[in-house]
This record gives sequence, structure tokens and C-alpha cells, in this order.
Amino acid sequence: MTTTSDFERRLRAADLRVTRPRLAVMAAVESHPHADTDTLIGAVRAELPTVSHQAVYDVLRALSLAGLVRRIQPSGSVARYESRVGDNHHHVVCRGCGAIADVDCAVGHTPCLTASDDHGFTVDEAEVVYWGTCPDCAAQA
Ligand SMILES: [Zn+2]
Ligand SMILES: [Zn+2]
Repeated sequence: MTTTSDFERRLRAADLRVTRPRLAVMAAVESHPHADTDTLIGAVRAELPTVSHQAVYDVLRALSLAGLVRRIQPSGSVARYESRVGDNHHHVVCRGCGAIADVDCAVGHTPCLTASDDHGFTVDEAEVVYWGTCPDCAAQA
């Protein structure tokens, strides 16, 4: 399990000051993978009732820029956040309810970063979204 001192270490390693809102947001993202901002605000407020919406937005932006959380935004969806960073995994998204799950690269370690033709670009991220119907929605159909 990830502890507060793990989050403190990650913040310090990224040259970010350790603050209670930052720790609370990191814990919320860790325990609610692929959650949207509203869900995260609710989770943070359970810990720190006085923290403002704007503060949570600001922390999410700082953590995303520092690479401590990853921001994903499937088309038609609001931004979601996750703490699983650095492995360029992909996502499967339900067209019905918007549920999101992690999908590892299909072959080996981040092979999707090796484009068949990179046109001279330095590629650092490949975004693959698999769309479909989740088991819950399929059961209701
Ligand atoms: Zn669904
Ligand atoms: Zn993910």
C-alpha cells in the first residue's frame, strides 16, 4: 500500500513542496484510478473539508506537469487522472457508461512509442484508446 511518506518522497523528487492538499490529492488519485475532477474533489474534501475546488484544480495541474499523475481525456469525456505514470499503458473505454480500465501495451515494453515512421519527431507518448462495451453494460443490453 502507498503511504503518506511515499507521496512525500515523490513530491520532493519532483522538486515540489510537500503540502497537505498535494498529499490529499495524490492519495485521492491513487485510490480512485481514472476518476474525474469532481470525484477527486469529493475524496479530497473527505480528508480536508476546507480545500477549494480551485486548489484541487491547481494541484492536479502541478502534479500532471511534474509527471506525478497522468491526465487522460478520452474524446467526449471530461479529464480523468491516474497515478500509474511512466509506463505508457493504454485504456479501454465503455461507450455506454464511460468506465475506463488499464490495458498494457500489446507486445513487450512500450513498443507503441516506436512509430513505424516518426517523421523526424521525438516521440515520448503514444495514446491508444480502445472503445467498446463494458461487462456491466453488456449484461444490461
Ligand atoms: Zn459500461
Ligand atoms: Zn490507466
